[in-house]
Amino acid sequence: SLPHLTEDDPQAKALQYVHQSPDEAKNCANCVLVQGSDGEEWRPCAIFPGKAVNASGWCSAWAQKP
Ligand code: SF4
Repeated sequence: SLPHLTEDDPQAKALQYVHQSPDEAKNCANCVLVQGSDGEEWRPCAIFPGKAVNASGWCSAWAQKP
């Protein structure tokens, strides 16, 4: 499995990534850019290649999954 993205990663900081979204309606699990399978706690993301993001997380690139 992929290493987890950390909040102090420079690219994460640039996009204000956090493991816990401040907005319950917006998180990695419902972002159009997340990859992997529904229900997984840590998932690949198109914005952070080679790292896994938390399903409950958020960053400034968030966009609603259609
Ligand atoms: Fe989460 Fe941001 Fe990746 Fe969307 S783009 S899945 S909000 S880290």
